[in-house]
Amino acid sequence: MRIQEPQGNKTALSQQGRPVRTLTGGPPRAGGPRQGKHRPEPGASAPLGSNAKSGSAFATIERFALQAVARELLPTERVRHCLRTRQRGAKHVEVWRSVEYRRAHYKKLQTCGSVWHCPVCAAKISERRRAELEAVTALHKASGGGLALLTLTNSHSRSDKLADLLNAQEHALRRFWKDRASRRLFERLGVVGLVRAVEVTHGKANGWHPHYHILLFLDSPRSASQLKAIRFDLAQRWQDCCRAASLPLPDLEHGADIRGAEWAARYASKWGLEQEVTKGHVKKGRGDRATPWDLLRRALVGDQWAGALFQEFAQAFKGKRQLFWSAGLKDRYPIEDVDDSTLAAQVEDSAVMLGAFSAHQWRCIVRAGIRAHLLIVAEAGDWSQVLHFVDGAVAVFGQEEMRNGSA
Ligand SMILES: [Zn+2]
Repeated sequence: MRIQEPQGNKTALSQQGRPVRTLTGGPPRAGGPRQGKHRPEPGASAPLGSNAKSGSAFATIERFALQAVARELLPTERVRHCLRTRQRGAKHVEVWRSVEYRRAHYKKLQTCGSVWHCPVCAAKISERRRAELEAVTALHKASGGGLALLTLTNSHSRSDKLADLLNAQEHALRRFWKDRASRRLFERLGVVGLVRAVEVTHGKANGWHPHYHILLFLDSPRSASQLKAIRFDLAQRWQDCCRAASLPLPDLEHGADIRGAEWAARYASKWGLEQEVTKGHVKKGRGDRATPWDLLRRALVGDQWAGALFQEFAQAFKGKRQLFWSAGLKDRYPIEDVDDSTLAAQVEDSAVMLGAFSAHQWRCIVRAGIRAHLLIVAEAGDWSQVLHFVDGAVAVFGQEEMRNGSA
């Protein structure tokens, strides 16, 4: 799968030599993206204006480009409709811009709300979850509580299937929480609640590496030496639970790690960034370890093996919760219980509508692969500039649609 460059040197004249209308009623313009039934969104190699210098604009384009790859790899999942298909009964697609941040977004389109399948929804959901996590940890510290970050994993090899590892890890984790000896250790630590996140990377050498990061909320701060004193016992309990779940055993050095408040706070403030696509121009995975979005990036430039790995990941993680809050923590702090789909569909409160596209116009925009670029133009300019951009970008495709009489 490759990014296709826009096709140049087409004029705004029809093949019969007659001038044709442009999509938005303006003068015909030369140039336009190539058509194709399953053509991915233009991505990193697409020519951009001055906004390309901005990391935010690049990130927007990359998210949509990676979403296009995910859509092709997961043709039966909801991601195929995400921000492409109009909501039921919607006659128009609206473009809005937030007053405060000037971020543009669409309304009246379906969203998939999947943090595992969709880089566009995941970016939005992760950012809200991160802010929520950061706010709660700050409140907890301010009320005299302490934090620690516990990381659990186990040994794995290239031959392990991700779904098998996940299932066995979940089994081991359930034992870990119920185990009497572990509970005594948590009591010693003063654990009053936790937030658990599941993550995965893939390495060419050792295959899938699913692991848990667990933010422990403690009744009072614990020193590094207090945590160190308990780490070995935790690692032993975790190793026993892995054995009971028939998992390849983690060694006592690497299976369980516990770090203090500074690490915990840093994790809360950066949570989700590995999964998110906010700095697409920066290489994401460390060493040979690839995040799921790294796999999409590789698939985007034709790596079929990476695409197959992403499909395995998507299947294994479908329906899993990315963040789990222990009972009572959300009661203790004023956290709204909002599911991922609702978060993905939420828009800025203080936003204004710039304009709207008809169903036909939107179809042309989607087929031209300019959903991300259009948002960037909308963030920088007014509606007339958006229309100007759309006219130019969809000129070739628009003409064919017009000739078919579907305008
Ligand atoms: Zn989505």
